Amino acid sequence: MANKVNLTGQVFGHLTAIKDSGKRARRKDGSSAVLWLCQCDCGKQTYVATSSLTTGQTTSCGHVKAANLETGADHHASMLTDKVPATSHTGYRNISMTFRGSRWRYRVAVTYDHRQHGGLRDTLKEALELREELRAKYWPGYKTQK
Ligand SMILES: [Zn+2]
Repeated sequence: MANKVNLTGQVFGHLTAIKDSGKRARRKDGSSAVLWLCQCDCGKQTYVATSSLTTGQTTSCGHVKAANLETGADHHASMLTDKVPATSHTGYRNISMTFRGSRWRYRVAVTYDHRQHGGLRDTLKEALELREELRAKYWPGYKTQK
């Protein structure tokens, strides 16, 4: 593992690696570990070592899962009956945050027939609308399940 791993932009649970922070953590064996500046979906930033991210040991800044409910303030949330998986970055299935250019955007991805359909949206509201659109289009019977 001497090679420098580039995790920039990768998502690990609630965390998205923004950049190599330049900080290093010393391992027990004397080698140093890269500390990544990570953006948590709760809004906090935290430093996490490469191995902690890649092994799935660290998937959030440590905030409680209940914090996800804050995004539920959006009125669309009442329409949602999906269970929220712990790994979902935004707390919504099929929607994750992605850092593009100089800002955070919502990435919608619905898988159908082994292909991903989706797009980028600026707001959670727009992302939810796109998700509904894609689900209705690609998931037969989705509308009637509600
Ligand atoms: Zn957090």
